[in-house]
This record gives sequence, C-alpha cells and structure tokens, in this order.
Amino acid sequence: MTRSTGVVVIGGGQSGLAAGYHLRRSGIEHVILDAQTAPGGAWQHTWESLRLFSPAAYSSLPGRFMPAQDGQVYPDAAHAVSYLADYEKRYELPVQRGVRVSAVRRDGGHLRVETDSGDWRARAVISATGTWTRPFLPAVPGRRDFRGRQLHTVQYVSPAEFVGRRVIVVGGGNSGAQIAADLAHAGTDLTWVTQRPPRYLPDDIDGRALFDAATARRKALDAGSTDTGGVAHLGDIVAVPPVRAARDAGLLHAKPMFTRLTPTGAEWADGTTVEVDAVMWCTGFRPALAHLAALRLRGARGHIATVGTRAVDEPRLHLLGYGDWTGPASATLIGVGRPARDAAREIAGLLGS
Ligand code: FAD
Repeated sequence: MTRSTGVVVIGGGQSGLAAGYHLRRSGIEHVILDAQTAPGGAWQHTWESLRLFSPAAYSSLPGRFMPAQDGQVYPDAAHAVSYLADYEKRYELPVQRGVRVSAVRRDGGHLRVETDSGDWRARAVISATGTWTRPFLPAVPGRRDFRGRQLHTVQYVSPAEFVGRRVIVVGGGNSGAQIAADLAHAGTDLTWVTQRPPRYLPDDIDGRALFDAATARRKALDAGSTDTGGVAHLGDIVAVPPVRAARDAGLLHAKPMFTRLTPTGAEWADGTTVEVDAVMWCTGFRPALAHLAALRLRGARGHIATVGTRAVDEPRLHLLGYGDWTGPASATLIGVGRPARDAAREIAGLLGS
C-alpha cells in the first residue's frame, strides 16, 4: 500500500521534531517516520553520565524552552529524552515509530519513500537521520591484530564494566574527554590519547559560545566577509563539571596518538608501549545517509551538496541536523531550529508553486 502526504520527515530525533514544528506552523501536511520505538533520538543511547555541553535553556528547540534539571546546570541525556518526548506530545507532531526507511527514489513529480511498513509518496522529503548509527573508527595499523576489546562511544554505558581494567581512550573531543573523565573518576587504569594536545574551552565558556561562533561564521560567509573560523579556534572540549574536576585533580593526562595497535596494547613512534584490555574509540561519526543512495547525490567526504538545507541536485530533498554543512550548529538542540524553519519555508514555496 502506498500512502501520500506533502512531506515525509525521516528521523524523529530533535532535528525531525524541529522540522515537524515548523511544517505544522506552516500548515503543511507531513508525517515523521522514526526507526526507534521510543522518543528521544540518539539521546536514548548515550552513556549514563553524559552531560549536555550547554545549560538547559540553551539546549531548546523552537517554541519551548528546555526546563532546568533539578540541581544541574548541564542536564543529562535522560533529561533531554523527556524534553523531546514532551515536545512531540505538546505540539502533536505526527510521529510514526518503529518505521525504518530503506530508500528514497524519484517517482515522476514525487519522491517515493520506501519503508519496512509500506511506501509513501511525498512532494518533498526532509532527511533528519543523524549520525549516531554511523560510528567512525579511523584506519590505524594493527587494529585488527589487537586481541582485547574495542568499542566506540556508541557502545559505552558506564565505567562499571571497566573497573580494574586497563583502557585506552582515543579522542580529544567532548566524548573522549567526558568518557576519559568518567573512567578516571572510577579508578580505571586509563591512557588517554589525542591527536593534538587537548584544547579545553575556558571554564566559563560552554555550548552557548559555540553556537554564537557558528552563527557569526555563517553570517560572515553569507555576507562575503572573511571566514571567522567558526568554533574551531575556541577549543574542542567544553569543561563540563566532571571533566573540569578530573582535569583539576590531575587525572587527565593526554598522550599523543600511538602509531599502531599490537595484539596486547599500543605502541608509539619512540618505541614506548602500553598493555591494555580495551580500546575505546571516541572518534566521531558520519552522516547516516544510506537511505538516500538511490538519488545518487553524495559528493566529497560523503556529504550531499546543499544550499542551506536543500540538496543542490534534488530540490525536493532537505537535510537537517548532520553538521554545519546543513546550517550553522544544525546538529545541536539550539541550532537546529533555524535551519528547520528555513527548510519549512522553502518547502512551503515549493508546494505552493
Ligand atoms: P538523532 O538524535 O540521531 O535522531 C535521528 C533519528 O532518526 C533516530 O531516532 C534514528 O533512529 C532515526 N533514523 C535513522 N535512520 C533512519 C531510517 N533509515 N529510517 C527511519 N528513522 C531513522 N548537541 C547539543 O545541543 N548539546 C550537547 O550537549 C550535545 N552533546 C552531544 C554528545 C554526543 C556524545 C553526541 C554524539 C552528540 C551531541 N550533541 C549535542 C549533538 C546532537 O545534539 C545530537 O547528536 C543529536 O542526537 C542529533 O539529533 P538528530 O535528531 O539530528 O539525530
């Protein structure tokens, strides 16, 4: 059976909900298809101690502030999940859960969205599938030879399973720093490696400043002015309280990246070695775009070329939330509202014409 609607939004995390909010405000008929059975997108799966890198009010989607979490400046992931669950209910967003989209294809004047529970015909599609389902591991010599456990950020839950173990954490971003701090506080035998020395943002700066910097960059580029460099010059790690505490207690010493893994550990260029039980790769993600393969839009670095959120080579397709290439800070709670609004406006124009 094929059903028809104006717009299919693929993904019911924060980006899909922000899209739904603006489509609803514009009176555009739509449906939001989400592979998961519960609300909250990727926030449902993060490690237990994760802290958002901005205070609650600065982690808000359009229309409704995230309420503060009792006793916390930086909310945890469970708080983000309840906020998103409340958000979709409050705005009566048409989310269908447990529906996985396998492909989007051109179908005359429409786009056909194929799912594991039937197809949809739509005049436009917003893809908002995030990155969590595509963890990235770098190609490091010896990775296949290492006989211990290897895991990525997406598999980390808590330090409990690493008590008494020797662990290498790889990565100098927020995930690497937070997980290293988590393990260090729990007394794990930790080796933290980063490609360059860790760059902490000043303690009084958090995700608010990152958002401002990303917005200033977009404005400068749009106005044809010099590239401000965006967030890159500010630092890589927001010193949220557990990270700050571990750093100040002298628990976080980063070593440079090793040159190879051995069957029992890692080896550096100067011949130094360390024996470990596990390697934790906090090495980022790639956009989850496999469902768009049939449209043949992917370019360099696996990205689809966009103008704002619109795919250059398929104007009925918008991409939301994957990174700065789909709008400044669009892969953050506070940053996705604006590109979502712009996408809804463009689609309103398309459907009206
Ligand atoms: P997701 O939350 O990943 O939602 C995508 C949804 O699409 C999921 O429900 C998924 O199941 C579904 N989906 C995927 N493929 C399909 C398919 N084929 N068919 C149907 N459904 C599909 N941002 C902040 O603002 N503040 C922070 O503090 C912060 N901390 C972060 C910490 C970590 C460790 C990470 C990884 C990211 C963090 N971010 C933060 C960035 C960002 O806010 C999150 O990654 C957020 O989850 C992105 O939301 P999203 O809706 O784009 O994607």
